[in-house]
Amino acid sequence: MPLHRRESVREELFSSIYAGQDLAKELPKYQFPTGEFRPEDALQVIHDELMLDGNSRQNLATFCQTWAEPQIRTLMELAADTNLIDKDEYPRTAEIEKRCVHLLADLWNSPYAADTIGASALGSSEACMLAGMAAKWRWRARQEAAGKPTDKPNMVCGAVQVVWHKFAKYWDVELREVPMAPGRMEMDADEMLARVDENTILVVPTLGVTYTGRYEDVADLSAALDVLESQSGISVDIHVDAASGGFLAPFCAPDLEWDFRLPRVKSISASGHKFGLAPLGVGWVIWRDAAELPDDLIFHVSYLGGDMPVFQINFSRPAGQILAQYYNFIRLGRDGFAKVHGASYATAKWLAEEIDGFGLFEILFDGDPATGIPAVTWTLKEGSEPGFTLFDLADRLRYEGWQVPAYPLTGDLSETIVQRVLVRQDVTLDLAGILVADLAKTIDHLARHPMTTHMTAEEVKGFNHL
Ligand SMILES: *Cc1c(COP(=O)(O)O)cnc(C)c1O
Repeated sequence: MPLHRRESVREELFSSIYAGQDLAKELPKYQFPTGEFRPEDALQVIHDELMLDGNSRQNLATFCQTWAEPQIRTLMELAADTNLIDKDEYPRTAEIEKRCVHLLADLWNSPYAADTIGASALGSSEACMLAGMAAKWRWRARQEAAGKPTDKPNMVCGAVQVVWHKFAKYWDVELREVPMAPGRMEMDADEMLARVDENTILVVPTLGVTYTGRYEDVADLSAALDVLESQSGISVDIHVDAASGGFLAPFCAPDLEWDFRLPRVKSISASGHKFGLAPLGVGWVIWRDAAELPDDLIFHVSYLGGDMPVFQINFSRPAGQILAQYYNFIRLGRDGFAKVHGASYATAKWLAEEIDGFGLFEILFDGDPATGIPAVTWTLKEGSEPGFTLFDLADRLRYEGWQVPAYPLTGDLSETIVQRVLVRQDVTLDLAGILVADLAKTIDHLARHPMTTHMTAEEVKGFNHL
């Protein structure tokens, strides 16, 4: 073979991804590699491994966005090298972040929308931490001013997301959770009042309880705290964890009073990457007015140039999510959000009817926009013995690629196993129809092959998103 031919054969071999040198080797897993990989090979091999992950669109457990308009991808790409914290370097990005804060303050009916204060965060979790800290600081200042002890702060809530358990532990606050009980899946005013005292830094209702998708009744809780204040002088602030509901209720249940229309609501947090329709990595916290965020918590940083007030746990952060959030706000407006989420609610309602139609299940929440998020939650009907549990059903649905989590409720209802579907914008009516067909097939399969040993929570865990 002539020499020049040999060279071209070698080049061909080198340009073949799978027959080339790199991918014929095992990947380094425990020892830091010595040599290099060709970039296309490194990309391919990671790409191939990700192929074995679940399909996010069929993940009906997650509240987070699994689809984005192409324009959002353009903005994410554009901002790949923009560090949100460099406000002096990227003043336009900082301005857009600020606009988002004011638009949200307006959306949530702050009486001071144009000059209130707020912050973006990595998600609701960071946002909740910031709101909780601000509340702890406010309470401590109040107690100190009254010459009272400040060593035993507590907070009162219903069945909260894990972030509040973290907050309570990290910041040394006693968590007083109103447990679920038969006939009571949300915190109610009586149970809340039984736990509130002058050491209560916050009451935290959830707008879209993780376990069920239902809203807690913020207005009712607020009214009960008004009565408490008039009778005892104890004034307790409310923070609303509106991780999901904050981007749903304003559009699809505008008359529901849960936000800054209630004077006792001092702060609100929400996840931009859930029903805010932004890509993963953005949350928001807004204070009713600037006075609710103690100045003592704000750090003034000068080493990036200029004087920059920061109230965040993270420092460097990607900016793309913020730009994408602003894009969503101007692209959709109130009308567009109502349309997008309205479609999800309609799909949830249809799904609830279909699941009810199997005759085996009791629907605990049907995705009613006035009382919760676009989700459907069900349990096995009392007395129905189909020969399988919801864990079996969840496990078997995975054969079709669907992740429909089954998990126990909490408190006195921890024996109740439920299953839940989150309907996001990309869970279309058509896909929901395919899910129902797959459910029917799965139920039929399980009826024909009754299980003698049932799946356990541990065996099907890993996707319950609590
Ligand atoms: C998702 C969620 C959180 C946590 O939000 P992240 O954005 O995932 O950090 C907190 N509270 C509630 C009610 C949630 O649904």
